[in-house]
Amino acid sequence: MIDSVQKVLIVGGGFSGMSAAIQLCKQGIETHLVEIDANWRAEGAGISVGGATLRAFKALGILDEFLEQGSVQPALEVIAPTGQLIQTIPNPPVGDDIPGGGAIMRPVLAKILSKKVMEAGAKVRLGYSYSSMVQDADGVSVKFEDGSDDRFDLVIGADGVYSNTREWLMPDAPKPRYTGQGVWRAVLPRPPEASNTMMWVGPKLKTGINPMSKDQAYLFLTEDKEVKERIPEEQMVPMLKKLLETFPAPLVQTMAAQIDDSSQVQWRPLEGLLVPLPWFQGRVVLIGDAVHATTPHLASGACIGIEDAIVLAEELASHSTLNNALTAFGERRWERCRMVVENSGRLGQIEIEGGDKQEHGTIMRESMQALAQPI
Ligand SMILES: Cc1cc2nc3c(=O)[nH]c(=O)nc-3n(C[C@H](O)[C@H](O)[C@H](O)COP(=O)(O)OP(=O)(O)OC[C@H]3O[C@@H](n4cnc5c(N)ncnc54)[C@H](O)[C@@H]3O)c2cc1C
Repeated sequence: MIDSVQKVLIVGGGFSGMSAAIQLCKQGIETHLVEIDANWRAEGAGISVGGATLRAFKALGILDEFLEQGSVQPALEVIAPTGQLIQTIPNPPVGDDIPGGGAIMRPVLAKILSKKVMEAGAKVRLGYSYSSMVQDADGVSVKFEDGSDDRFDLVIGADGVYSNTREWLMPDAPKPRYTGQGVWRAVLPRPPEASNTMMWVGPKLKTGINPMSKDQAYLFLTEDKEVKERIPEEQMVPMLKKLLETFPAPLVQTMAAQIDDSSQVQWRPLEGLLVPLPWFQGRVVLIGDAVHATTPHLASGACIGIEDAIVLAEELASHSTLNNALTAFGERRWERCRMVVENSGRLGQIEIEGGDKQEHGTIMRESMQALAQPI
């Protein structure tokens, strides 16, 4: 354990920042977290999680809550647009008592995590952020929005894909890049047929349904658009229904008929980002989407951010200098995060080009197997 790290500031209370807070508090570190969103992530549709994410939930101590409030799916069914089952891909196991995959409503997961953060003893300020930071060899002096200031041994920037902390720390780092694809999502009643994740793959479009609880599921549909577009809210429901017409499968048509203004329909252009190592300078380190934002093709963006938090805490506990701990953290994380960002990007590209479905399947399978490996 590094003696010089006794007080840490985490900027951003998303899944990565909350996970870091839980793990650092367990090690007796005085942990402060600032989150700019006063409602602390009370909105959003569903999130899919693989076995590796569920393994990370176990490490955080929230697997039981997930199993109570989320949903578990043993496999992915790949289906033709007309409804014929093409193949069932089992989610690779990651441990005896850990399911291979599942899904949950984002606000439900955020609530489970935020409760754990508070129980762990982190000092949380919501609707709040910093205005500037200056670091020297012994610490980081942080000025907050309300004019107050404080000093920390380490600052963790977990402030997402548009991270201000990254902009300040690494102004020359790559910027998020639009991938040419976006995803539609809607919250629907869980269809009784859906015991696995179901995905209908058309020549250009792909849609799917993932159960998130006993009675809810979320529908997704990926569509390519050359230019990053903002879609007016009132056009979303009719546009999604129109896109679903290209899937004659009876279940897709039943779900399309259920979509209305209460379905929380969203359109989100997809972006990717992979910042080369090192992910730290001095006493400020970046984790999660701030350094590796991925498209959702492997449903693993949250997974690798949460794993960052777990590995960072482990490395802080097992080195005598901060520089060595932060170097070891990046080296342990790089290959896995690169794989997720680049393979997800390649899957999107194959979909946009209407490319080789066999390559798509192989990348999916190999990536899921790689993710099942220990971190
Ligand atoms: C459409 C879509 C679907 C996805 N689906 C999945 C999926 O199914 N499974 C999966 O594993 N991943 C999925 N992902 C990826 C996943 O959502 C992200 O990788 C994950 O949420 C990143 O978490 P994070 O905590 O690193 O960043 P964020 O979730 O972006 O959290 C950053 C936090 O920092 C706060 N913040 C920002 N700036 C400041 C500041 N200056 N001061 C204080 N706070 C600040 C923000 O309010 C936010 O709460 C998806 C992504 C997209 C775009």
